[in-house]
Parts: sequence; C-alpha cells; structure tokens
Amino acid sequence: MTTPGVALSGGGASPSEEARLNRQREPLPTDVASLPDLPAAYARELGRALDVLGLELAADARSAIDGHVRLLLAWNAAVNLTTITDPAEVARRHVADSLAAVQVIRAGPHESLLDLGSGGGYPGLPLAAVLAGSRALLVDATAKKVAFLDAARRAVGLTGRVDVAAVRAESLRRADPGAAWDVVTARAVGPLDDLVELAVPLLATGGRLIAWKRGDISVELAAAARAAVALGAAAPALQPVPEALVLAGHVLVIVAKAGPTPAGYPRDPAVRKRRPW
Ligand code: SAH
Repeated sequence: MTTPGVALSGGGASPSEEARLNRQREPLPTDVASLPDLPAAYARELGRALDVLGLELAADARSAIDGHVRLLLAWNAAVNLTTITDPAEVARRHVADSLAAVQVIRAGPHESLLDLGSGGGYPGLPLAAVLAGSRALLVDATAKKVAFLDAARRAVGLTGRVDVAAVRAESLRRADPGAAWDVVTARAVGPLDDLVELAVPLLATGGRLIAWKRGDISVELAAAARAAVALGAAAPALQPVPEALVLAGHVLVIVAKAGPTPAGYPRDPAVRKRRPW
C-alpha cells in the first residue's frame, strides 16, 4: 500500500528544489553592513526626488532610509514585500512616494504616527526616519511582514522611536480605546471610505489621516466624505504629488478629525460590506 504523502517526499527533492529549500532555511540578514551597497542609480534617483520635494535629509535619516532599502531587497526573495526590485525604482516609487507627505505632515501636529498596512515599511519607516521628533507604530496583518519591519527598525537604529505590531487595523480601537494619534498613514491598503472608518477613530482631535491614492478616485472620495462626516472629521482635502516626481496622478488625501468619533466604529467588516457609505 502506498501513502501519497510518503511517496511524494520519499522520492527526494531535485537538486534545484533542494537549493531552494536550503536558501529558505538560511537565516535572513539582520545586519545592513553585510549587504551589498546600493548602486549609483539609486542615489541619483533619490537625490533628484528630494530636490523636487525640497527636502534635505539629515545623515542619520538618510542612512536609515538606505539601510531599510538594502534589507528590503535582501529579504524580498524569501518574504514577498514588494514587486519593485530595481533599486532606482525603489528610490522613486517607494522612498520618494513616501516622503512626498513630509511637508504636509510637518504642517500639522505630528508627535505620533501610525502606519496602517505598512507591508515592507512604506510610507511609515522613511517618514519616521525623517520626522526625528516623532514616534511611530507600523502595523500589518501579516506576521511575516511584521517580522521584516521589526528587523528593519532594529537594523537602522530606530528601535527607540519605532514600534511594530502584527494586528489588523480593525482591532486597534478595541485594543486601545484611548488611542489619539496625530497622524495615521495608509498606502495601498484599501478603499478610502474603509480607511476613514478605520483611521478616524484612532486620531486625536486635530489629527489627520493621510492616504496615498492615484487615478480616478471620485467614487471612493464621495463615500469617504460621507464616512468622514459621520465619524467626526472634515471632508477630505486633496494634495497632488508634484508631477516632477514622475508619479503621475498620485495624490495625498487628507482627512482631519474635528471632534469625537461616536462609539461603534469601525463597524464589523461584514456590516461594512452590507452597509457601505
Ligand atoms: N503600505 C505598503 C504595503 C501595501 S500592501 C506599501 O504601500 O508598500 C497592503 C498591506 O496592508 C499588506 O501588507 C497587508 O497585509 C496589509 N493589510 C491589509 N488590510 C489590513 C488590515 N485590515 N489591517 C492591517 N493590515 C492590513
């Protein structure tokens, strides 16, 4: 009698399969110094973007941002963190896109920053690196990604100001009913009305949700405006990302909390689905 499971593994792994398994078993790097340098094209692209954004980075912020990129590229083969693997493209589409919000963030309260669905750490980690007086929490629902975020904050020396948590955004208010963040960021996490419902309850009065969006967002924007009013926030304001960044059609959507959010938000995901804004 044959047992399929035994027959399959009893055949032995092919050499290439074995190599793949061995690679997976090797511990992932945690020390940036052991990793390859970034190419000149990365520095060129980032330098150009910083000029466009009118930003000058302190040396420690820049080295934290670069170290994060090096670790991201090193882990990406084992943990799916990004589809962008060309370092110059990472500079433009991850780092510069994240830093496009720095001026907006600096213009308001920003002692604390919560990044929802941080994934590989964008936009939360570069923002935390640049906003030297702020503390940040990066959350993601996927444990493997949070393991990366934890390794990254350690590797680049941000443990004193940056925390990570493997949680769903939906459970944050219940876990910490008194939460009062100055800034909540979210890029590529969900539709705007969902983000408003998840983020506004977590904000301090005067705090802001900043969501990275692109393309035609008129439908989700209308729904988000209804959600914002119900949750005690002002209607969304739009801030286009400079075209010279070559991130065509990217826009920051800003929702400022004006007063307390009624109890009962965010609603259960099933209820949200049944009763959209
Ligand atoms: N912000 C990153 C990652 C975007 S991918 C970037 O722009 O590069 C979306 C991420 O959000 C994924 O890592 C996913 O695990 C996380 N996510 C999706 N829904 C979530 C939720 N409800 N709570 C927490 N994380 C969530």
